[in-house]
Amino acid sequence: MDQLYSSPKFQSYFENSPQSLILKADPPYFTILAVSNQFLAISGTVREEILHKPLFEVFPDNEHDPSGRQRAMDTWMEVIQTKKRVDIPVYQYEIRDPQTGELETFYWSNANEPVLDEDGNVAYIINTTKNVTEEVRLRQLAEKANMSLEEHQQRINSLLMKAPVGMAFLSRNNYVIQYANEAACAIWNKGRPEQVIGISIFDLLPELRQSDMQDMYDRVMETCQSFTLTEYPVDLERDGTLQTSYFDLYYSPLTDLKNEVTGIMVMANDVSHTLEARKTLRDAEQRLRLAVEAANQGIFDLNLITGELVHNERLNRLLGYPDGLTLVHTDVRKNMHDEDRVKVERAFDDALKTGRFNYEARVNWTDGEQHWIKTLGKVFFDAQGQPVRMLGSTMDITEQVEYECRLDEINSALQQEISKFEIITEFIPQIIWSANTNGSIDYVNKGWAYYTGLPMEAAYASTWQEVVHPDDFDRVQQAWKNSMLSGESYQIEYRLRKHDSEYNWHLERGKPLLDEDGKPVKWFGATMNINDHVELQKQKDNFLAIASHELKTPVTSIKAYAQVLEMMLRNAGDEQKASMVTKMGIQVNRLTTLIADLLDVTKIHTGKMQFNDAFFDFNEMLDEVIDDLQRTTLKHQLVKEYRFNGQIYGDRDRISQVVINLLTNAIKYSPDADRIIVATHTNDNDLELSVQDFGIGISADKKDHVFEQFYRVSGSKQHTFPGLGLGLYISSEIIRREGGRIWVNSEEGEGSVFYFSLPLNKPVA
Ligand code: ADP
Repeated sequence: MDQLYSSPKFQSYFENSPQSLILKADPPYFTILAVSNQFLAISGTVREEILHKPLFEVFPDNEHDPSGRQRAMDTWMEVIQTKKRVDIPVYQYEIRDPQTGELETFYWSNANEPVLDEDGNVAYIINTTKNVTEEVRLRQLAEKANMSLEEHQQRINSLLMKAPVGMAFLSRNNYVIQYANEAACAIWNKGRPEQVIGISIFDLLPELRQSDMQDMYDRVMETCQSFTLTEYPVDLERDGTLQTSYFDLYYSPLTDLKNEVTGIMVMANDVSHTLEARKTLRDAEQRLRLAVEAANQGIFDLNLITGELVHNERLNRLLGYPDGLTLVHTDVRKNMHDEDRVKVERAFDDALKTGRFNYEARVNWTDGEQHWIKTLGKVFFDAQGQPVRMLGSTMDITEQVEYECRLDEINSALQQEISKFEIITEFIPQIIWSANTNGSIDYVNKGWAYYTGLPMEAAYASTWQEVVHPDDFDRVQQAWKNSMLSGESYQIEYRLRKHDSEYNWHLERGKPLLDEDGKPVKWFGATMNINDHVELQKQKDNFLAIASHELKTPVTSIKAYAQVLEMMLRNAGDEQKASMVTKMGIQVNRLTTLIADLLDVTKIHTGKMQFNDAFFDFNEMLDEVIDDLQRTTLKHQLVKEYRFNGQIYGDRDRISQVVINLLTNAIKYSPDADRIIVATHTNDNDLELSVQDFGIGISADKKDHVFEQFYRVSGSKQHTFPGLGLGLYISSEIIRREGGRIWVNSEEGEGSVFYFSLPLNKPVA
């Protein structure tokens, strides 16, 4: 057979064969025995170069990917084994370009038919190869195109679905929703796209039936024309109420291939927010304009490159020009005060560097007056840092400047006053101070340093407290606290340490400064050295104690002698002399009372007043006192109004001393009255006694002082009554010591009511 295939006759026959190769079944060579012109053409080879050569030597495929070669080998081996025709529809095989020598990828299809020898074994393979590269490429392209078309479709779909604009397709009949994207569903607020598709838009949103929506849809259907509406109000139900939203709407007919209208496409963009924002912006603009107008401000916008100036009308007047004139940049400084013009130029140059424009200057206005103006501006720079624009405003600050001038004048006057005050306070012997609400001193005069010998700074620190005598400290603190709570002024005597470490008595008066709510915001006070006074007081007390003590014995003797003398004269029938001695006795009694009072005062001062408390019948004591005193006055009727009956625990003599004092005062200070009422009653846990007279009374501003020692109300009426001003002081001390309270209600010219109370359940000592 080899000879047959090799014969020139067969060779020339095969040249024109539609088949491609005759291969010898001699694996692994598959020697080429014959080749057709068709194959030479598609493989780009020359007969002489390939004939009688092993196929894989001539067509080695790509050495890096010899899959085509393997495929061919496998196929032919299959043909040899099965002795049947085996086809490969498409496979890839690389062959070298005869021109460039480069490997090129081709796609082939081939059929392989066995030719058997006499023994029935495969001896040859007739191969028919077709170059299908073109078809494969086309098919690949088509597949690719198909794929990207699908992708494209999908992308468009999701784009539409996620588009920020609501989009829906409505059918021709009944406007049933056929497609809706998410934005459309968000506007409708009735569920997701798959939930609303298939429902008529008017069933989904019944509120639309009242609108002109249907007319619009109908119009699109009839005219087959699309149309647009902007910022169109649509009422939609939201949370049970109809609410108006604004939409940009676009309606367009949907047509089929025959150009017949099948439905309508609706696009809706909710512009409510934009409208609102625009409205807010408009409002803000308006407000700004109003504010600028109200503030009477001049506004300007200066182009720093062209020098062009845009400004409002108000700027004209501020810069000294008539209204209506358009100003250029060089006009701005023309009417300024010469001195200020230089300053403004400098401010302008600075602004071009710093970005901030700020000056105050005087301008001569058209009305002939000079006004102060203030300009504030901001400079804008381009990307290269060049100043390109300046925006700013100018206002009239004449009043403010004048006010500041006035304030300066007032301040300097005040400063002078303060200096004067400081000179005065420096020389006064008192310590003058002010303190804030937490008690720390914020001003003190030099008196403090002189007295304490400490540096001034120490007064501002807590050292102030250290110089208060430890025994007085709590009392001082308490006075402070009380005053702080009540907002009332206080007065206290305490000892302060001197520079020589001695303690001197001081009298301190503090007065709070109150705010509108009556709360103290600051304290002012003066602390005065009263040591000498206190010393004198002590000496006086000593003197009084000795003097009254020494007087007591002779006066008692005089009284005894007087009584004896009176008796003797009466017995001798000398009534005239006897009554003179009686009068002497009365004067001696007054003297005794005076001496007793003085002794009491010294006892109070030295803390030596003794109390012998015991139970006693209160009314019995009252009767005794009242009956006794009734005998001394013919004019006054002493009226008893007892509403208490019982025992009181206290010093009977001391308490009766108080009643006597109140009654004698009542008699003394009501010379024209004929009645004095002594009343008692109980009140909670107290017994209350009142002595009411209808005499001269006491004025409101003086009545609280009557319990002070040596205090006597001064006045034209009072000075006719004798007295030392000690009785009420002693009484108040007795009542205080007995655990009670003493006070007075009085009206000038009407009379007074003196009260005291005593505890009913006083603990028995
Ligand atoms: P005196 O010895 O001056 O009466 P008191 O201490 O008893 O001293 O009283 C003090 C002052 O109170 C008196 O000087 C008087 O001005 C006034 N006073 C006391 N009682 C009365 C009263 N019943 N009516 C008017 N003024 C009174």
